[in-house]
Parts: sequence; C-alpha cells; structure tokens
Amino acid sequence: MEQPIEIEFLEIGSPQSDKMKKKIELTFKESSPEEIKTVFPLRTEELAEYKPIAERAASPKQISHYLLGSKITYNVNKIAWYADKVFQECCNSLAIEKPPEELVKLFRITFSHAVRKHMLFHYKVERGSRLLPEDRYWEYRVKIYERSDAQTKGVLEEALADAYAVTYVEDEIRALQSPVSVPVSKESLVAGFRKMIRAAFINDSRPPGYREAKNFLLEFENLRDANTVESIQSLLLYSAILKGVSNIDGIFRGLSWLYRELTFLEPTNLEKWPLPPAPPYPTKNFLLFVENFRSDASLFLLLLLPPTEEPFIDKEFYPKRLPVK
Ligand SMILES: [Zn+2]
Repeated sequence: MEQPIEIEFLEIGSPQSDKMKKKIELTFKESSPEEIKTVFPLRTEELAEYKPIAERAASPKQISHYLLGSKITYNVNKIAWYADKVFQECCNSLAIEKPPEELVKLFRITFSHAVRKHMLFHYKVERGSRLLPEDRYWEYRVKIYERSDAQTKGVLEEALADAYAVTYVEDEIRALQSPVSVPVSKESLVAGFRKMIRAAFINDSRPPGYREAKNFLLEFENLRDANTVESIQSLLLYSAILKGVSNIDGIFRGLSWLYRELTFLEPTNLEKWPLPPAPPYPTKNFLLFVENFRSDASLFLLLLLPPTEEPFIDKEFYPKRLPVK
C-alpha cells in the first residue's frame, strides 16, 4: 500500500483540509447511494488470484493438504491504482475535488480488504467442497469455473464472491482507525466507505458474473446476521414469506445453486437462477455447507488450511496519473 498516489489529493496539513472536513462529514453520511458514481469494469481476478490447492496436485485425493496450502497473490500496484481511481470518482461525484491524503490511504486499505474477502470466498468454496460426500473441487474448477465460455457467460461463484466481499468488508471498515489529520466522525467514514465500495462492486459496468452480485447481497447479509435466536427467527419468517419455498435454501439461493454446481458439475444459468434448485441433498448437508461460509470454526480448518497470501508487483502494469475532472 506504499504505492505512489496517482490522483490529485490534499496533503496532510493542507489548509484546505479543514474546509473540506465539513463537506466530507456531511456528504459521506447523508448522500444517497445513487449519488455516488464510479465505474469498475474489471474482473476482481485482475487484482488478485486465488490458487486452489487442487491446482498443485494431480488429484485432490492424493495431496497431503496438511502440508500444502492454497494461495492468494495480490497485484499490489494495480489494487492501489484502482482503489485511488474509484475513490477519486466517488469523491468527485460528491463535489469533493481533492480528497485528503489520509482518506485516500484508508480507502486503499478498505478496497484491498474487499478484494481479499472476495479471494477468501474462493477458499471457502474449495473448503466447502470437502464437506460434500465426494470432493469435487478439482473437477468443478476445470468443468465449471474455468470452462471455455466462463468469461463471456459469467460464473455464479464470482457473483457470490463479490456479494460476500461487499457484505463482509463492512467489519473491516468499522475496524478502521479514524483519520487524525481530517477529523471526520467514525460514523461518516463508515457510511461513506460502505456506499463507495458498493458503488464500485455492485455496478452494471462489472463483467458478466460479477455483475450479478446484486442478487445475492441480502443472502450474505442474512448469513452474517444469523448468530442469535432472534435473527434465526427472522430468517425463518423471511423464508416463509418467500412463496413456494419452505426450506432454508429459499434464503440461501445462491449458495444452494453453488451446492448444486459442485454436486452435479453443471453450470448455473445466471439468467434463470431466481428460484432455488430442487434440493438434490439432505438439508443437514446443505446446512453444514452454509455454515462453512458463515464461520471459520477451527474444525473447518482441518478440511483446508487458510491460504498463504503474497503480494507481487506487476511489471506490465504502467499506471497513469488520473486526470482531475
Ligand atoms: Zn473471483
């Protein structure tokens, strides 16, 4: 995250920062999500990559996954550049011409956390596949995820990964340290960054697959909140409201389609996904699969250890300084 900033910004100590403070405080908190405009037409995979453990062994059945780990690599200069670009566009749409330096850096951290959560979702899919009666991840990866038309038609897993990322990155946003040089309230910072991450990732400019993330946001919000009796009660109520569906797959539709993909190795038609598939599995199996995404309970780590994470500098990527609008 030490890459040079390629947008116009207010340096720490700039007298304009103080004037900007009020504007930021107000617009971050009170702007409607529609006011914040940006485009992010890239696959999240161009910023980082999840390398499954299955890729590194001839067959997942042979590997000693206690020793081998999966891996995430981060294209750090590209992440920083796109984070700055998105932040600049979001700020400009709120009539903030030059965002203060400290906020630019905090947004970079937030944006890279969103990319990381996306990659961790792929790890959880690989881990969750081991909860199926047969470990199919290897075949799934080749036949569904990497199939020849995957990029043009889109992949369900990418839509789910972005929806998961946008939902779970909020924990990281709330954990940010408030900026010292631009004293905006934590509440404004959280509200502003949350809307900006959503504006970037939940956006019709996204490539096929990623673009469908909007359909699964509610699903992951429900999953994240399903940790008290009250929240489970409202889940059940919500499930009952969803007509014609009486099981929890009525709520976790995307995950139930993913479970089906892993089970039958058939791609999901993203244009026809809305109703959950007829359950090809006992509820208890599906519940366990869902729990794998909700929690990092230590015993799940026995299935597959968390990935190692490494940065790399992409020498082919020549960032340009972004013009001021
Ligand atoms: Zn992905």
